[in-house]
Amino acid sequence: MITTAKRAARAVLGIPPVLGLLRSWRLRGNPVTVLCYHTIGPDTGGPDAWTVLRAADFRAHLAALQESHDIVDLDRALADGPGHRGRPRAVLTFDDGEAGNHRYLLPILTELQLPVTIFVATGQIETGQPYWFDRIMGALTAGADVDLATHGLGRWHIPPTPGPSRWATVSSLLETLKRTAPDCRAAIVDDILSRYPLPPGRPPLGPMTRAELAEIARSPRVTIGAHSHCHNLLDQLPLVEAEASIARSRSLLRDWTGQEVAHFAWPNGNHTPALRQRAQRLGFRSAAALDMRLWRAGADPYALPRLGIGRHDDTARLRLRLVGT
Ligand SMILES: [Zn+2]
Repeated sequence: MITTAKRAARAVLGIPPVLGLLRSWRLRGNPVTVLCYHTIGPDTGGPDAWTVLRAADFRAHLAALQESHDIVDLDRALADGPGHRGRPRAVLTFDDGEAGNHRYLLPILTELQLPVTIFVATGQIETGQPYWFDRIMGALTAGADVDLATHGLGRWHIPPTPGPSRWATVSSLLETLKRTAPDCRAAIVDDILSRYPLPPGRPPLGPMTRAELAEIARSPRVTIGAHSHCHNLLDQLPLVEAEASIARSRSLLRDWTGQEVAHFAWPNGNHTPALRQRAQRLGFRSAAALDMRLWRAGADPYALPRLGIGRHDDTARLRLRLVGT
């Protein structure tokens, strides 16, 4: 829900001189902006999920971003850090390893010659099955009345009309399920899918195949990073289990791509001091968080700040995010 005050603030911030002043204040010290996307989809149709940006909207984001920022790869940004001289910099990252990265993102990167880092969760690539959140988003895309009272999670009315309001309910349901213990959650997800099955064929949201991953990794525009094997919230697992999931994802990605894997992203952005220490000890050069902040001098490279961007963020919202509002 957008309040009157928020709408007024946006109207004021949309006036170029005000936005310009705010930008110059926010960009003091020349922070790096690291954007976190998930996947790209078709311009029409496709799943109405926050994680899926329409290709045309992504192109509009890139054009808006390049008005004020240079897009550089993660290694370049880490080598120079925030505070370098010159135009502000942005880094593009994509989480999870979704099929849309290969089908829609790769041609755009090749055409526009822009670098990205794709953080791949290996469990879903290995099995070829979408993670539970993608199955839920795919199953509920046409709207549903989901009664989870027997699981103690109430009732959920998912409106059939696509848009931010529908997404607010779906996202709230996903957040509730995300915080449920993995074995309980698996039973609840099965229950939902038994009532709202996925359409037949390749699911609307799901992982790249191994062949697609190998192909996208060969692009000089793409850096592959690890994103754990299990994609559970690592701060809620025993440390030894979390570390094994991190190490397994890197080992599989090395095997599948034949490349070194130097960067990691925390699933859902969840990390702890002990986890950050493990990532460093495993030899990663960075680990990305998801905390809606710009990357300023002094930030921990194992909790690299990123801004999450989704389907309902148009270029006006992107510009506001770039100045930290
Ligand atoms: Zn993820």
